[in-house]
Amino acid sequence: MTLLARKIRLIMKLRRCGITDTAVLGAIERVPREAFIPPMFHDQAYEDIALPIGCHQTISQPLTVAMMTQELRVNDRHKVLEIGTGSGYQAAILAKLCRRVYSIERHKPLLMLAEQRFNDLRVRNLTCKAADGMKGWIEQAPFDRIIVTAAASLEPPQPLLDQLNLNGIMILPMGRDKSSQFIYRITRREHGFETEELMPTRFVPLLPNIARNEPEITPEEIAQERAAEQAAAAAPETNDAEEDDFDSGLRAVSRLLQPA
Ligand code: SAH
Repeated sequence: MTLLARKIRLIMKLRRCGITDTAVLGAIERVPREAFIPPMFHDQAYEDIALPIGCHQTISQPLTVAMMTQELRVNDRHKVLEIGTGSGYQAAILAKLCRRVYSIERHKPLLMLAEQRFNDLRVRNLTCKAADGMKGWIEQAPFDRIIVTAAASLEPPQPLLDQLNLNGIMILPMGRDKSSQFIYRITRREHGFETEELMPTRFVPLLPNIARNEPEITPEEIAQERAAEQAAAAAPETNDAEEDDFDSGLRAVSRLLQPA
């Protein structure tokens, strides 16, 4: 099956699962998810699954991205803050729907890869930085919308609440552990914050501070990764992946991200 056929199958699944916002579906159609994942997973780019992106992080499942984006109720006048750039995929989807995206990632190597992808895809209305997103982005605040793509344990970080505009919406996963997380919508009203529980979910944790003592990817390794991505993009369609490809791909990604 070609990537295009898989993409159409995925969009039909998203519609069946309650994604009715045509702008969100259109953004998913226009942003190439394969450009945001390591080459060994390209044939799974349009499966409805999370995939490893390095630094022990994952690109979220497409249905989760679509749901969170739909629940964020974003329009082209909005200034949006995303916490957890990761691969950059969610940020690129938001960039199609709003005026400007600000995105923060605590793993520098992930941010560098994401920035190259934004460049390649000519995503211009997006600014990102390596920092602790739990502190928000005070110089750019307030925001009309905030989306957190890693799970807080008990409470939304106070700086994020403070940096939300009046009638602004924040979407974030929260829960003590992966088995008890929900996605919440928090709306800032004059009298305070309204909280709605939306759906159960599973996210990597929101962690404080910028990541240090983590295996760094050198610029040479990033270049190698990019060359492989481009070669894979130019290569002819491969057959359906075996189940084991996921594990061997995972080992290859972790090798790439380990110091030599
Ligand atoms: N939105 C991403 C999903 C990334 S997974 C995508 O579309 O690919 C969650 C990301 O949140 C991880 O990359 C993780 O490193 C990051 N993260 C966790 N805590 C953070 C924090 N305090 N500040 C910034 N990024 C954080």
